[in-house]
This record gives sequence, structure tokens and C-alpha cells, in this order.
Amino acid sequence: MEHSIVVSDVVKMYPLGAGKVTAVDHLSIDIEQGEFVAIVGRSGSGKTTLLNLLAGIDRPSSGTVRAAGADLGSLSESGLAAWRGRNVGLVFQFFQLLPTLTVAENVMLPMDFARKVPVRERHGRARRLLERVGIADQADKLPATLSGGQQQRAAIARALANDPPILLADEPTGNLDSSTAEAVLKLFADLNADGRTIVVVTHERDIRSMVGREVTLVDGRVVQDGRTEVPA
Ligand code: ADP
Ligand code: MG
Repeated sequence: MEHSIVVSDVVKMYPLGAGKVTAVDHLSIDIEQGEFVAIVGRSGSGKTTLLNLLAGIDRPSSGTVRAAGADLGSLSESGLAAWRGRNVGLVFQFFQLLPTLTVAENVMLPMDFARKVPVRERHGRARRLLERVGIADQADKLPATLSGGQQQRAAIARALANDPPILLADEPTGNLDSSTAEAVLKLFADLNADGRTIVVVTHERDIRSMVGREVTLVDGRVVQDGRTEVPA
């Protein structure tokens, strides 16, 4: 079976004073293409570290990560950046939109980096993505003038800029009120219905009704891995 992401016996240690902290501890997980996975666990359980390893933002201390057809450990820094630009969309808790660019310009920025979308198509594509996430009317505004929910929708449109097969989101609803959070999670569910592989770190309690699989981390290890439905 084709796997979108395969994490094999990964350890990630950080230096801490005189000793070391093991943020991810001999963790293995397979995520199939088209799965919608929630990563849950207490603060400090290694969720962000795991997401950064999947995105190739961090490298493991040992073990391997394969994602979207690449062995991330075999790629150079520039090779990783190019791989990430084409294959991974990232969404963060605090949106991380560039404040001096308009919403549409923020969405076009990853297209300019990855050069996957032809220049003449970038503006139209940004508009269509903003329509898709329901904020086409905000395209020419600066991010600071948008609500939190609208800013997160803009960040999701930006994550979709290069049509990546994988979307990774680190507590994307952590800074939103509960009804806005639910709308954002529904948007992720829609994007998953398109066939995208989605991994979301979240504290939302009602995520179970939306995701196909919930994985619980404790001390950098998977302690629970439940599929609520077997992916086709
Ligand atoms: P979570 O996202 O679940 O809150 P993290 O992945 O951020 O957990 O952190 C896991 C563990 O690794 C924690 O003990 C944290 O303090 C430690 N850690 C994370 N990032 C770093 C870092 N850059 N340097 C040192 N320790 C870190
Ligand atoms: Mg975290």
C-alpha cells in the first residue's frame, strides 16, 4: 500500500543544560495518502517536534522520515526546502502572515518561492484559493484588519498555494473561539475530502467526529493510535 508518510524509529533529542531532553522517543508511524490524522497530547509531549520532523524543518537524531516520495534524511538543506515548498503546506497557531503584504500577496508568496505555478497564473490562483476558504472579499486587505478566523483561513489558502499533497497544522485552532475553531476544522475536513493527507495537532475535543484517526503522544511516544474508519 502506498504510504504518504512513514516515520521509522525516530528519536529527536535536544540539549538541555548539561543533559538532554528526548522530545521524540523511538516513534514509528505510517500515515496513508488521504488520511486525516489528529495528533493529541499534553503540552511538552512532542507534538510540535513530530510535526517539524514531518515537514523536514527539523532532522531526527536517529531514525528516518519518508514523506511524499522522499527520504528526508538524504536531502540537503536546499533540497529539503525545495521538497517542502512543493509537497507540504504548513499552518500555525498564530497564522504567521506577513503584516506588510496583502492577504492575496501572502498567498502568492509560496508560489513565487516554489515556481511550480506559472507567474501569469499566480494572481488568479490566489483569488480562487481565497474563495475556496471563504474570504475572497478580504484579498486586498492587510492581515491585521482581519479577524482571527479570517487570518487562519488566509494562512490555509497560503498553505494550499502550491497544491501540496500534505497539509500539516500545529494547533491551528488554538487561538480561535470555539465556533470559529469548528469552522476551520471543517475546512480541513473539506480539504481532506479532496484527497489531501492532513495531520493536525489540536486540543479541540470534538475533533473525533471529523478526523479518521487520532494519535495520542506521551513523552514523545505514541500511546494510542485509533482509526475511527479504515481509509479506502
Ligand atoms: P508539544 O508541541 O507537544 O507541546 P514539543 O514538541 O514542543 O511538545 O516539545 C517536546 C519536548 O521537547 C519538551 O520537553 C520541550 O521542552 C522540548 N523541546 C522542544 N523544542 C526544543 C528546543 N528547540 N530546544 C530544547 N528543548 C526543546
Ligand atoms: Mg506544540
